[in-house]
Amino acid sequence: MFADVIIDIQHEKLDKIFQYRIPEEIEDKLSPGMEVVVPFGNGNREIKGYVTGISETCGYDLSKVKEIISISEQGVEIEARLIALAAWMKENYGGTMIQALKTVLPIKQKEKAKIKKRLRLLLDQETGERQLHFYLEKNQKARARLMAALLDDPVLEYELVTKKLNITMPVIRALEEQGVLEMESEQVFRDPVKKSEQKEEKITFTPEQRYIIEEFRKDYLTGLRKTYLIHGVTGSGKTEVYMEMIHTVVEQGKQAIVLIPEIALTYQTVMRFYRKFGSRVSIMNSRLSAGERYDQMMRARAGKIDVMIGPRSALFTPFPDLGLIVIDEEHESTYKSEQTPRYHARETAIRRAQMEGAGVVLGSATPSLEAMYRARLGEYVLFEMKNRSRMQQMAEVYTVDMREELKSGNRSILSRKLQELIQDRLERGGQIMLFLNRRGYSGFISCRECGHVIKCPHCDVSLSVHRDGRMRCHYCGYEQPRITVCPECGSHYIGEFRAGTQQIEDIVKEQFPGVRVLRMDMDTTRSKDAHEKILSAFANEEADVLVGTQMIVKGHDFPNVTLVGVLAADMSLYTGDYRSGERAFQLLAQAVGRAGRGKQPGEAVIQTYDPGHYAIETAAAQDYEAFYEEEIRYRELMGYPPAEELLAVLISGEDEALLEKGCHYLKEYILRLTPRTEARTVRVIGPASPGIDKIKDIYRRVIYIKTEQYGTLVGIKDRIERYIEINPGFDRMRIQFDFNPM
Ligand code: ADP
Ligand code: ZN
Ligand code: ZN
Repeated sequence: MFADVIIDIQHEKLDKIFQYRIPEEIEDKLSPGMEVVVPFGNGNREIKGYVTGISETCGYDLSKVKEIISISEQGVEIEARLIALAAWMKENYGGTMIQALKTVLPIKQKEKAKIKKRLRLLLDQETGERQLHFYLEKNQKARARLMAALLDDPVLEYELVTKKLNITMPVIRALEEQGVLEMESEQVFRDPVKKSEQKEEKITFTPEQRYIIEEFRKDYLTGLRKTYLIHGVTGSGKTEVYMEMIHTVVEQGKQAIVLIPEIALTYQTVMRFYRKFGSRVSIMNSRLSAGERYDQMMRARAGKIDVMIGPRSALFTPFPDLGLIVIDEEHESTYKSEQTPRYHARETAIRRAQMEGAGVVLGSATPSLEAMYRARLGEYVLFEMKNRSRMQQMAEVYTVDMREELKSGNRSILSRKLQELIQDRLERGGQIMLFLNRRGYSGFISCRECGHVIKCPHCDVSLSVHRDGRMRCHYCGYEQPRITVCPECGSHYIGEFRAGTQQIEDIVKEQFPGVRVLRMDMDTTRSKDAHEKILSAFANEEADVLVGTQMIVKGHDFPNVTLVGVLAADMSLYTGDYRSGERAFQLLAQAVGRAGRGKQPGEAVIQTYDPGHYAIETAAAQDYEAFYEEEIRYRELMGYPPAEELLAVLISGEDEALLEKGCHYLKEYILRLTPRTEARTVRVIGPASPGIDKIKDIYRRVIYIKTEQYGTLVGIKDRIERYIEINPGFDRMRIQFDFNPM
C-alpha cells in the first residue's frame, strides 16, 4: 500500500504530493489527515508530512519509493482534521485532492499582504516649519519634500509618498527616528463598536426562543452534538437564538463559525455580534484580500477569536476546538460551491462537526427541501418559531391574475390593484418595493391569455428558448421548434416574458409624476459600495419606491415599507430546472415578508398568470408546510433530490464534434456500468445543454445520473474518473462532477 503525503502546507506548494510506501505494521492505522514522519530529499532528512490519500498503486519507479518512518505521536493538529475533511470532500464531490486541499486549507500567498500604511506628523505646525528649514539648510531635499507635504496634510498615504513624492524608505525611517512622524498601518479589524454603544441591549426571550435555547443547552452540556434545524418566520428572533447558543459554546472554551450569505452580512448584523462578543469576533468577506483573509485564519488558529462570521468559505476556519457551526439562511444557493470540489456547505459542515465533535444549527424562514426532508426523517432536530418576536402581523397578500387584467383591457405591467395601492401609499407616505426576479430566467414561453407554459414532455420542467429559435429541455435534450400559437387555447398572444427593471422604473415615473424612484439591479450596482448606498438612501427615505431584482428582497429591514409588489412571479416559476418551484416559493415568501416590518401592517401584491400554481398559492398564504407537501410529492414522483440523488457530469471542450463523440461514449460506458451497481434504478439522462451551450469558445454538455443511493453515484464517479484517464481523446475534454446541483 502507498500513501500520498504532502510536506509543506504553509506555502503554495500543495501541488507537490509525494508517494511513500506504507510499512505493514501501520497499514491498518493510517488514514488521510494523519501526520507522519518521512525521509525527505537526498540526505533523507526526517521531516513531518500529512497523509492526503491511500492507494494500492504507485505512479513512480518502485525501487525509488521511500517508506514512511512512523505516525507522528503528537496530538492531532487542526490541519490534520482539515486534511481529513478534504479527503472526504474529494471522495464525495469529485475533483482532485489538490483542489480539495486548496479549498479547506488557509493558503498563504507568496506576495506580501497589502497593508495600507500611513505617515502621521508628530510635530506641531511651528516645530514642523523649523524642521523644514533645517532640512533645507542642510540641502536634504527628500526630507524637506516630505516635511513640506506633511505640513500641508499631517496624514499621508504611504503609497502616495513613495510613488508620487518619490521618497524612499530610508528617508521615512530617518524622520521616524527623529520623532518627526510615525508610521501607522491600518488595522483591518479594529473593534468597530464605539465604547458608548457597547452595552448589550437586554431582551426578554419569547417562549419559543427560550425553549430552543434551553433544549440546545441541555444537549450541549451533556455532551450531545446534534444537527438542529430552526424553521422560524422572518423576524422571529433566530439570530438572537444563535447568539445565545454560541454563548453556551464559548463559555465552554470552544469556538463557533457562523455562515451568513454575503448579501445578508450587513453592518447591522455584524454589530449585533460585536455587541455581544466584542473583539473576539472576526468577519470574513470578499472585500478582504487573500493576505487579510489568511491573517484572520491565523488569528483563529492562534485562539485569538471565538466567533468567525462569513460566507461559505468561513466554514474552513481552523479553530483549535470547534464547538458549533451555525448556517443562517440555510436554503440559499450560495452555500453550494460553483468550483470543484462543488461541495455544499450544509453537508460539509455536518461532516466537519462530526469529525471535530461540534454541533450544527441550520436556520431559515423557508428551509430547503433537503433540510426539511432530513429533519422529518429524524436526522435533524426540528424547532419551529411561528411568531415574530415583536408580535408584528404578517402582511396581507393579494394575488392578481394577470389574464383577467388583460381581459379587462389593462395591458400595463402594473395591475389595477397594485396601481391603486401605490397611489394610496404615495398619498399617505409609506414606502414601496417593486420586485422583478430575473435570476435564472431561462426564456420560457407562456400564453398571456390562458397562462399555459410549454414544458418538456419527459421532465416536467419548462422548455427554454435558444438563440436559434428552438426550445430545449435542459435535462434530457428534448427539443422542438418555437411555437407561435398556444396549444391550449389557440391564442397568438404567446411568447417570452420581456420586462426589465429599467422599464418598470420608467413606467412608475410616468404614471405617478413626482414620485422618487431608486433602482437596484446589475446595472446600478456595478461600482463598489453602490449596493449599500442605494439601500441606505432608501432606508433614509430619500425615495418612495425601490425597484429591483432579487437583490432587494434580502438583508436590510425597512420599517417604513408597507407595500411590496411582485411584478412577474412567473419569472421565477419557470427556470427550466427542478428547483424552480422551491426557488419561487422562497423568493415570494421573502418578498412578502419585506412588507410591514415596522409598526404599520403591510400589504403585498403578487402578479401572475398562474395564480393556482402551488408555489404561488402557498407563498401568498405564507404556508410553508403546504408548500413542502406539494413540492416533495413532485420530487418523489419525478425522482429529483432529495427524494433521489442526482449527479450532473459536465463535459466541456473546444472541439464540438469530439465533445459529441465523448458524450456518446461516456453515456454508453455509464449505461454498461449501471447494471453492475447494486441499485437497479439508475437512470441516465442526456447529454443535454447545461443552459449555456458555449462559453468563450468552449462547448458544454451535461449528462445526468439519477439514483436512490448517494454512494452509488460516488462509485459511478470513481469509475468515470478511471475511464477517462485511460481513454485517449478525453484528455482534450474537461469533466467535472456536480452532485445534487443547484
Ligand atoms: P430573524 O433572524 O429570525 O429574522 P432576528 O433575531 O433578527 O430575527 O430578530 C428580529 C428583530 O427582533 C431584531 O431587531 C431583534 O433584535 C428583535 N428581537 C429578537 N428577539 C427579541 C425578543 N425576545 N424581544 C424583543 N426583540 C427581539
Ligand atoms: Zn393559451
Ligand atoms: Zn426533458
